Amino acid sequence: MNKVVVLGAGTGGTIVTNKLWKKLKKTKQPFELTIVDKTFKHVYQPGFLFTMFNRDKTENIMKDARKLVPKGVKKVMAGVIRIDTENKIIYLDNNETLEYDYVVLATGARIAPERVDWWDDSIHQFYTPEGAEKLYNAITQFEGGKILIAIGDLPYRCPPAPLEAAFLLDDYFRKKKMRDKVDIKFCSPLNRAFSIETVNTVVQPLFKKKDIELETYFNVEDVDTEEKVIYSLEGSDDDYDLLILVPPHAAQPYIVESGIAEGAGWVPTDKQTLEVKGQENMWALGDTTDIPTSKAGSTAHYEAPIIAKNIYNKIINNGKVDMYDGHVQCFFLTEFGKSLFIDFNYENPPKPGKPARHWWWFKQIFKPFYFNLVATGKV
Ligand SMILES: Cc1cc2nc3c(=O)[nH]c(=O)nc-3n(C[C@H](O)[C@H](O)[C@H](O)COP(=O)(O)OP(=O)(O)OC[C@H]3O[C@@H](n4cnc5c(N)ncnc54)[C@H](O)[C@@H]3O)c2cc1C
Repeated sequence: MNKVVVLGAGTGGTIVTNKLWKKLKKTKQPFELTIVDKTFKHVYQPGFLFTMFNRDKTENIMKDARKLVPKGVKKVMAGVIRIDTENKIIYLDNNETLEYDYVVLATGARIAPERVDWWDDSIHQFYTPEGAEKLYNAITQFEGGKILIAIGDLPYRCPPAPLEAAFLLDDYFRKKKMRDKVDIKFCSPLNRAFSIETVNTVVQPLFKKKDIELETYFNVEDVDTEEKVIYSLEGSDDDYDLLILVPPHAAQPYIVESGIAEGAGWVPTDKQTLEVKGQENMWALGDTTDIPTSKAGSTAHYEAPIIAKNIYNKIINNGKVDMYDGHVQCFFLTEFGKSLFIDFNYENPPKPGKPARHWWWFKQIFKPFYFNLVATGKV
């Protein structure tokens, strides 16, 4: 019996499970496929940029992940606390254990405000359902002043998201006819607004056009939430009335606990084969990896079939190894009603074109497409 276990039932976990199910059935060899998740609440996280403006509801961006994978897959609702990688045993928080021959790590990233000593609840964020809802209340009650958006630490999920938030806030207050009462400032940790140069040449001019102040080389060092002042490592400081930060991120604690990684726990992963470095029969995809590309759902989407094929290759022992080419696609919202479309891989940087209405509409219809076709591994 080939025991294959997928840890995590988010974007990467459900897609890889669906792809694996199809491939493993083809081997005609006995197998058991198990998916483990601590909640089975599958969240369509791009929806946070809509729930923070009450343009969508939290309950509409969540689905029971057990309904997204085939019936024949064994579903275990429990949190992973440790993997004994030598003996290939997974320890769960319900005191049970699971043995595996092949394991896929797809437990994503978590917000980790405890990694800094300056975070407190007065700092807004839109990286959790609750955070996005709380931010909506703060925005609706905001009567004027300065909104400052910055990045708490690198890396974080969805590199465009904080820039999108700044652009949508600009549009929100324009539509509310109070933009003249609101100053918006964006602080980037880099030497430019956005990491990818070709995309930056399109988005950086938008800051000026939308009257959003941009400060570069601003890596957050400290926040005095009583005085409402933020300090950068580079020596500057700035006051604010409403602070929105991308919270520091980390991988799940069990990864460090199992000796797979150190520090923030990003899993050392071969950027092409998606095998976990230094481990046997272990692969990783999505946000949990240390691969030098965007932590994005579409990254996991294009990684999943490679892992399914590579586990299949191992089981039938055909000597083949498939390679992930770094393919990522994403919509980059520039206002309510316009978006860029970005498509790139390791070799070819994106050629984003101009913000266009049709990409905005694509993003709107993408959510049902995501749940019905992407998460279920049909496309
Ligand atoms: C505001 C925002 C906007 C975004 N916009 C986009 C976008 O436009 N396009 C795009 O491609 N991506 C976007 N993303 C990123 C995208 O949502 C993530 O990259 C994607 O969800 C990663 O998939 P994953 O499977 O790695 O992790 P996740 O989808 O986060 O899934 C991880 C799963 O693991 C489970 N889990 C965690 N720890 C354990 C444990 N110890 N034991 C058991 N289970 C566990 C969790 O319950 C969860 O179900 C956005 C993200 C945010 C926050």
